[in-house]
Parts: sequence; structure tokens; C-alpha cells
Amino acid sequence: MARLQIDAVSKRFGADYAVREVSLDIADGEFLVLLGPSGCGKSTLLRMIAGLEQPSSGRIMVGGNDITDEAPQRRDLAMVFQSYALYPHLSVEKNIGFPLRARRRSRAEIARRVREVAGTLELSALLERRPAALSGGQRQRVALARAMVRDPGAFLMDEPLSNLDAKLRSATRAELIGLHRRLGATFLYVTHDQVEAMTMATRIALLNAGSVEQVGTPEELYDRPRTAFVAGFLGSPPMNLFPAEVISHEGTLRVRADGIDAALGLPGGPEAETAVLAGVRPERLRLDPTTTTAHGRVTMVENLGSEELVHVSVGAVELCVRAPRPAGVAVGEEVSLRADAADIHLFDPASGLRLS
Ligand code: ATP
Repeated sequence: MARLQIDAVSKRFGADYAVREVSLDIADGEFLVLLGPSGCGKSTLLRMIAGLEQPSSGRIMVGGNDITDEAPQRRDLAMVFQSYALYPHLSVEKNIGFPLRARRRSRAEIARRVREVAGTLELSALLERRPAALSGGQRQRVALARAMVRDPGAFLMDEPLSNLDAKLRSATRAELIGLHRRLGATFLYVTHDQVEAMTMATRIALLNAGSVEQVGTPEELYDRPRTAFVAGFLGSPPMNLFPAEVISHEGTLRVRADGIDAALGLPGGPEAETAVLAGVRPERLRLDPTTTTAHGRVTMVENLGSEELVHVSVGAVELCVRAPRPAGVAVGEEVSLRADAADIHLFDPASGLRLS
């Protein structure tokens, strides 16, 4: 088992930073997900930890030992790739046992470990097959088994579910959560899929353009995003964000924009008159004909089966409301929207940083 420490790690390709001054302290037994949009540097960071890429600066520690300059095979880490990277000419059994054969372990030990790991991942009946004769989900389990066989201190996984169809992906997510619990090992998992991150992570590190935007539990990132980027990245559909002004009106602070006037539930002095980026999640907006918070016109209604997404044009702003179905509104209709003060997030429009 291993604690992973990443200390001010950067990677430059030419003049461009793929990863910039990233520091993370990942506790023994954590399931940390590196999340972010395509090109934000997730894979590069993981590859540096695995030893497949050399950092331009910074240090990487595993279990307190500096491994920045160690060869990949001397790091007590196992990597699972998106492509699985199985040997096509070897049986499942030989694929799983490969890391132990490479380390010249005894035949008896290899056979025992392969049997154990194959049992854990329900591969015992498939040991004679070649990878070409397996389904995507089975190949993915073989790749995991090969990573598990030598009992590494930490698992590094780069989008291991992205080649699976939606149903299998959701089943495998549950398997990975169970596996993490049983093994108690440190998992570092790269994905751009927020559902994977929200469901599996003990903590998420959200990357943007090579830097860490926020590290925290899934709930912390979702409920109290540190920046407008985090607010807009998590959630499907994402948080509604719109330019507004905070003003003091009759002793309370209010958020104002064209067509919007929402109380913030805070006492406000006369000095408050600040330009902000205001945010509210679609599931926190309600259609309510009695309210005066926001008025607009319905531009689109999307039926999701159990719910509807109602898009409402309010002044220059388009707001999305997630409502139980049927929402009972039609395109073109005038509607009023309501949000509780506690559900309104405020960000600095220049820096994107949370204001409250
Ligand atoms: P994705 O989700 O699309 O895989 P990512 O977040 O994993 O994206 P990286 O693959 O780490 O992103 O790439 C980060 C940035 O570094 C990108 O702009 C990419 O083009 C650049 N990059 C990665 N590898 C190299 C390389 N070998 N040479 C030059 N630039 C590279």
C-alpha cells in the first residue's frame, strides 16, 4: 500500500505546459480521480507518475521514497491503460502472469497468484483463451488482473472504461468500487467522465489547462465549487452561469440581472454593488408562478423520461431548469422561476474564484 505525493510537478513540451506546478498528496488507500476536459494534462500527469514520461520539474514520492528518477519497472505501481495493452499471442493466463514471469518468480507462485486473481475477477473459466476471443469487458478485467497480480502499492488507471458500452461501463464502475474496497490499495484514476468521477472517487482533482482547479470530495466540488470552471464542468446539464450585479436593496443583498432579481438572504450595506458571475444548478431552479425571482419565456423542452429540461430565455440569459415530468409548460409560454438564496453561487467575473 502506498501514499503518493506529487510535489510541484510540471511537464513542458517545447514552450507549452501540459502540466503546470501540480501538487497532490494522495493518502494510502484513497481512490483519487484526475478529472478534466480533453487536453488538460491528466494522462501526462499519470504517465509521469508511472515513469513513462520524465517531469520537467518537481518530485514524485511513493510511500515516502523519491521515485522521480526511478525506472518504471522499479516503481511499486501498476498501470491499466484504456487500450488494455494485452499481448494478443498469449493466453489470458499468460497475460495475467506476465509481470511475475518478468520478475522471475517461481512457477508455483505464478500459478497460485494467477488463480487467486482470476478468481477475484471471475476470469477462471477464460484462462485458456486469447484476448481476441474475449468481450471488451472481459479484456478490461484481464488488464486489471495483470495489474493486480503482483500486489502493487498503487494502481494507475487511464480511462480504463472508455471502450465499454454504457451498460457494461456502469457494471464495471460498481466492480471497481468493490475491488478498491477489497484490496484497500491506492487508486489513481484518469477520466473525463464526471459520472465515473462522482461515483467512484473518494476525492477528485479537477484539472484545467495543466493546473489543479480544485481537490476535494465529489460533494465538495459539486456543492461548493471553488471556481466558475468547476461549477460549469460538473453537473449535467452544468450549472447555469450568468453575469449579474450584487446590489444592496432595502437592507438585504440581491442578485440582479435583466429579468432576474433574487434575494441572497444576507444583510447588505450600501457599498455592495459588485459585478459577479452568478450560478444556480438546473435542479435548484423551480417553475413557480407565484414568484418574482425571474421571468422569461420557454424556448425548448427536452424530455429525459423521468424529468424534463426546460430552457427559459430570461433577458439576455438562457437558464436551464430540471423539473419532474411533466413540467406542464410549453414552448413560447411565459414562466416564472424561483431559487433559494442558499443555492445561488457567486464568482468573481475576472478570476473565476468563488466569492462567498
Ligand atoms: P485526453 O482526455 O484527451 O486524453 P488529457 O487531459 O489526458 O487529454 P494529455 O494527453 O495529458 O491530456 O495532454 C495534455 C497536453 O499536452 C495536450 O495539449 C497535448 O496535446 C500535449 N501533449 C501530450 N503529449 C505530448 C507530446 N508527446 N508532445 C507534445 N505535446 C504533447
